[in-house]
Amino acid sequence: MEKTLSIIKPDAMERNLEDKIKNVFIRNNFEIVRERKVKLEKKDAEQFYKVHETKPFYNDLCNYLSSGPVLVMVLQKENAIAENRKIMGATNPEEADPGTIRKEFGISIDKNSVHGSDSKENADKEISFFFKD
Ligand code: GDP
Repeated sequence: MEKTLSIIKPDAMERNLEDKIKNVFIRNNFEIVRERKVKLEKKDAEQFYKVHETKPFYNDLCNYLSSGPVLVMVLQKENAIAENRKIMGATNPEEADPGTIRKEFGISIDKNSVHGSDSKENADKEISFFFKD
């Protein structure tokens, strides 16, 4: 069994999509093994998205992730990292396949409703970032 980190981002929390998005995971046979609702400080978002620090959108991205509460979850399933990326859809909701979370709920490339780890290394790092024990 593999674990991955998922975040329901502020735009989706604001629109009360928490349960709808969790249901997509459950329907797709993910087990939600940990969950925490948090409001990040900007410095936390900057640390979380450190891989993007040279990108032009870094500052906006960190302001956005720290703009309101988020729901952080550890999802477990066989091949969880790739399976989660598949049901999330492309980064830009306009380019995401029909039926994916980002196609269904995303508003724009920055307000794309969910985060999901993109590799085993990042999943491990991101899980320990939010869940210390
Ligand atoms: P992800 O793994 O699909 O979330 O995409 P990335 O790791 O490449 O980017 C992290 C987050 O930064 C994305 O989910 C977007 O919210 C945001 N992002 C990525 N590319 C762009 C961009 O070109 N412009 C803006 N404004 N935001 C972006």
